[in-house]
Amino acid sequence: MPADLAAAAFEFEPSPAPLDVAARGERLLDPGFGRVFTDHMASIRWSEDKGWHKARIVARAPLTMDPSTAVLHYAQEIFEGLKAYRLADDRFALFRADANARRFQNSARRLAMPELPEDLFVESCRALVRADRDWMPEIEGGSIYLRPFMIASEVFLGVKPSAEYHYMVIASAVGAYWKGPPRAVSLWISREHSRAAAGGTGAAKCGGNYAASLLAQAEAIKRGCDQVVFLDAVERRWVEELGGMNIFFVFADGTLRTPPLTGTILPGITRDSLITLARDMGLTVTEAPYAADQWRADAESGKLVESFACGTAAVVTPIGQVTDGDATFTIGGGGPGQLTMSLRSALEAIQRGTAKGPEGWVQPI
Ligand SMILES: *Cc1c(COP(=O)(O)O)cnc(C)c1O
Repeated sequence: MPADLAAAAFEFEPSPAPLDVAARGERLLDPGFGRVFTDHMASIRWSEDKGWHKARIVARAPLTMDPSTAVLHYAQEIFEGLKAYRLADDRFALFRADANARRFQNSARRLAMPELPEDLFVESCRALVRADRDWMPEIEGGSIYLRPFMIASEVFLGVKPSAEYHYMVIASAVGAYWKGPPRAVSLWISREHSRAAAGGTGAAKCGGNYAASLLAQAEAIKRGCDQVVFLDAVERRWVEELGGMNIFFVFADGTLRTPPLTGTILPGITRDSLITLARDMGLTVTEAPYAADQWRADAESGKLVESFACGTAAVVTPIGQVTDGDATFTIGGGGPGQLTMSLRSALEAIQRGTAKGPEGWVQPI
């Protein structure tokens, strides 16, 4: 086994042609999500003989790949998503990056890929943010979204785990995910398609899960809804999650419920953070299955008063309406719920350093 690379070993090769200040400033005024990219990227290679090697921060540039590269055929790919924030005192910080690093290792194991050491993962993110710190938007709700990912880079069409991998981190300046005042989204329950099954890759953050969710998401849009919500693949009864966000239910008695992590649901770090925050507020949070039919009955009887989705990109998104077949039911008053919005504010305040959260969540760069 090759010795692991030290996190300190990142080489910095500055971009010879960073975007000029004026053009950058213009792009940062209204960056949207996932369209404005920074000047650099992190890159680490892995091979069977060398292990992890060649850790660098380099100019962001197109990849040149042989058309037989394994990832293009068998989708051996995993990714992560986390944000760097400007704190109230102007320092930059990552939020729970160690948790992303561990989840990346779990995803790697499931996809038969090598596990990147936690310190290399975190340092790749920190080093990239340091290189591209001028890309932090000044606008309200702005942050730098980091996208670590790893691809099977061996040039070989045989079906087996690749013998070579390329890990990269790209960074995107982002504004608030949803523009304007908080809006509640509408969901479409997919009765035909499922996202993940027991023993599959539902708990791994891999591109393949997203590929499998796109048809159902397109169906949701066609039905006039914003997002699809998936049910379990066996009984087609229990609510699991959205295509890329976890889900919570809020009841009139003040308790919360979220589907349990049974292997088919992605263990969201936002999900985990909100469970912790809600419990710290004295609320009861149950991780237990919830049937789609019960959701509708409880919304109609008034037993359920709020529902929300959560994930790094959009943080906390209120759910206003749900369509199941030809029937549509409304959650609470159809707008953002009170507890939903107070949990969102509590989490954002911690991420931006205006409130103190649990030890270790905010990691200054
Ligand atoms: C990334 C992701 C989430 C949210 O995870 P966070 O760590 O909160 O960003 C939820 N569901 C799926 C399918 C995901 O890929």
